[in-house]
Amino acid sequence: MRLASGGVQHETNTFSTTPTTLADFIRYSQLGSHLNGGNAIIERYAGTGSIHGGYIDGAQAAGIELLPLLTATACPSGIIAQQAFDTMLGWFLERLEKVLPVDGVLLDLHGAMVTESYQDAEGEFIDAVRNLVGQDVPIVVTLDLHANITERMADLADVIIGYDTYPHVDMNERGREAIELLARIVRNEVVPIQAFRKLPLITMPPMQCTLREPMQSLMQQVHQLEAGPDILTATVAMGFPFADIHQAGVSVLVTANGDQELANTKADELAGMVWNLREDLQPQLSKIEDVMEFVNQHPGEGLTIFADGSDNPGGGAPCDGTVALQAMIDANFKGGLVGTLFDSETARQAHAAGVGNTIQVRLGGKTDDRHGSPVQGEALVKTLCDGVFTYRGPMFQGVEDSLGRTATLVVGGVEVVVSSERRQCLDKEMLRVTGVKLSEYRLLVLKSAVHFRADFRDVASRIFDADTPGIHRPDFSAYNYKQLRRPIYPLDQDVSWS
Ligand SMILES: [Zn+2]
Repeated sequence: MRLASGGVQHETNTFSTTPTTLADFIRYSQLGSHLNGGNAIIERYAGTGSIHGGYIDGAQAAGIELLPLLTATACPSGIIAQQAFDTMLGWFLERLEKVLPVDGVLLDLHGAMVTESYQDAEGEFIDAVRNLVGQDVPIVVTLDLHANITERMADLADVIIGYDTYPHVDMNERGREAIELLARIVRNEVVPIQAFRKLPLITMPPMQCTLREPMQSLMQQVHQLEAGPDILTATVAMGFPFADIHQAGVSVLVTANGDQELANTKADELAGMVWNLREDLQPQLSKIEDVMEFVNQHPGEGLTIFADGSDNPGGGAPCDGTVALQAMIDANFKGGLVGTLFDSETARQAHAAGVGNTIQVRLGGKTDDRHGSPVQGEALVKTLCDGVFTYRGPMFQGVEDSLGRTATLVVGGVEVVVSSERRQCLDKEMLRVTGVKLSEYRLLVLKSAVHFRADFRDVASRIFDADTPGIHRPDFSAYNYKQLRRPIYPLDQDVSWS
């Protein structure tokens, strides 16, 4: 059996002022040059906590010939230049054409990608692949839990499989599920029939977390459903609310073996379960001033984490926001650390000065005017490093990545890890490589909404979801949606679903 695989992955924040270009995808791939396909992809991802890791491991276990053609990823940011998308899709189609005929295709996509011309870029991608391979070659697509799935994607793919976890710690498992199911389809052991339901519901990251209720219990019900007779797979995609597109928000997919009625019934049941949880999916946010006071009132109780999701680069935010940092400096707070703030200019300045020296900084707040102003003043260079690290936590485990040249600075009594690449701090290794010892701090500001919980929860005595401004702020009143379909809960209160 010969299966082709690949895709372009991007989570597009349409509220971002930073457009995403081909250069962003190329820069992201330079560690593994996996844009080239073939062995570069296998070397980078085999055995790792990634979707392609799961495809590759599954292929090896089952003796399947896997032909990885492309994995193009860029850090989440603004709308993708049309030419960049067209170029990468062109690469994939060209390579796919060269290896035809294949028995099936695995597409590793995100599901919330927006380009200048396409609100539903994944729909376009799957459509182009379908046109090339024809109706008889099965296509199985894996999507992120944050996918804004459209009817078109569901119609074009034989099966869509979404992640069941947020933090996304099941990527390898979902990749394996996808290749194993595709192999069964190719061998005519099963006939997948999907039912798709789009709910009039949009939700925010903090409460989409599957380590917390109500999502934890919901996912247990999804797994129970999947264990039922003739159900091949089920997905609840919570959607990406920072893409202002018509189809943003929650959707449900159930795939049955040859039985449309069963798929329909179970999809309705699952959609109903999610709909009933809608009021419990609204986050509670805390101000940095209140969290500093909490830490001061609870001395010796370990590390408190302020999850500054409003500035989460993993959802397209700048990662150079200064609101929490400035507040800690103003309050003369001791024992505070800001984990990876993106400012390549300041990192370069620190590397030029050297460890132990003092520099005058204009730190952060440079991308736009929605995440605080630059912090001005003297900074002591505490440590320097090249920023190369390997994910050791449960997410992306084994994948090598880089923060670029990185410096730890002391500014106004607060320590800040300053990176040259925009990366969500979701793995303790990203701080450890800079020389940071977490036991030395009382309050850690992480520019991450939820993903950090997978690796940091064992060192966090308390976690607060931040009430800070930004383009990833989990608060619908902060956005002026223009494309989103209405009515939709909770933007509109008079919404019904049956
Ligand atoms: Zn996601």
